[in-house]
Amino acid sequence: MDPTQISHLALDIGGTLIKLVYFSANGDYSEESRNGCSVVKGRLCFAKFETRKIDDCLEFIRFNILHHSGVQQPNDEGHDKLYVKATGGGAFKFADLFKEKLGILFDKEDEMCSLVGGVNFLLKTVPREAFTYLDGQKKFVEIDHNDLYPYLLVNIGSGVSMIKVDGDGKYERISGTSLGGGTFLGLGKLLTKCKSFDELLELSHHGNNRVIDMLVGDIYGGTDYSKIGLSSTAIASSFGKAISDGKELEDYQPEDVARSLLRMISNNIGQIAYLNALRFGLKRIFFGGFFIRGLEYTMDTISVAVHFWSRGEAKAMFLRHEGFLGALGAFTSYNDQSLNDLKPHHHTVQRAILNCSGHNLRHIPVTSNLNESETIECSINLV
Ligand code: ADP
Repeated sequence: MDPTQISHLALDIGGTLIKLVYFSANGDYSEESRNGCSVVKGRLCFAKFETRKIDDCLEFIRFNILHHSGVQQPNDEGHDKLYVKATGGGAFKFADLFKEKLGILFDKEDEMCSLVGGVNFLLKTVPREAFTYLDGQKKFVEIDHNDLYPYLLVNIGSGVSMIKVDGDGKYERISGTSLGGGTFLGLGKLLTKCKSFDELLELSHHGNNRVIDMLVGDIYGGTDYSKIGLSSTAIASSFGKAISDGKELEDYQPEDVARSLLRMISNNIGQIAYLNALRFGLKRIFFGGFFIRGLEYTMDTISVAVHFWSRGEAKAMFLRHEGFLGALGAFTSYNDQSLNDLKPHHHTVQRAILNCSGHNLRHIPVTSNLNESETIECSINLV
């Protein structure tokens, strides 16, 4: 095998986004020998595309020759074919398209199993992966490998899945909600006429939710309802002011609408997550999925909701590779020997390329809310 080549592509094809993970050996690859195997250093790279623009994804794979990095396996007729690990609903929906356009077959992995596999891989092997976000402070969490389980995984994609994780491959999907990232983006597009998720986030960044949300103080004449622990600024009813304002949608600023929407969805998920953690006595809740996008306002709202409802008992934690959990899980499920030793070898994680469209790989600026662009340095065993 040529170590300079990219190997082991895995895809997670969701309702809104396609996520890719692949191993790329360092150009000046350093190879050591261990137990008769060559250890090749490189990095795990990440890319995402909108599912509705699947042609961009196919083009990216073809242009970077990623489709040659599958694993040879005999198909039903005993002929060797190239298989690539794939998860998410699109692994079924688009299997024929990938076969026709790229000549690859999907080795399908269960979606929930991949999510859990991805989180466990990150928590066990990637340093400074999990963090809390409270009062504007991001704090990395030391993960004790002997005390990792049980935890609740809340994956906020188009919809939301809540999974109780008890160990490697030991999990149960205990709840979910259809009010997820897809709701935020779908309603946001209708209400603000914005064209993309990034535009909607940008709008929300400049908005004020108090313009539309009905606060406790609006009902109580500016005072708290302290007897039951509600401050005057707590939201009593999302979008509630629109009932009595006598305004039309056009009279509101899209920024304020976007802000209220983001708060509503994040709050609701935080609360449902907490209730499910309570059901099973779980103290740690990890939030993943591309809805979060490392956005401080979103993480803050979710953290405050969990903190408020649990009276500080439960902890909301976030993951730097939040959007790639399923793809990482599918990636780590390759069981050929070359991946047996997949482990990050540096305690640093670079920010690099990504956000790809068509042929163009463009460097995106390093900002705190673009954590999907982080590669993981690691090494694999070559047989
Ligand atoms: P799925 O697997 O269902 O596609 P993801 O974890 O990929 O789920 O998250 C999809 C959600 O992420 C969207 O519903 C939206 O809220 C959010 N999102 C983040 N970035 C983007 C983007 N560039 N385009 C569309 N949605 C995005």
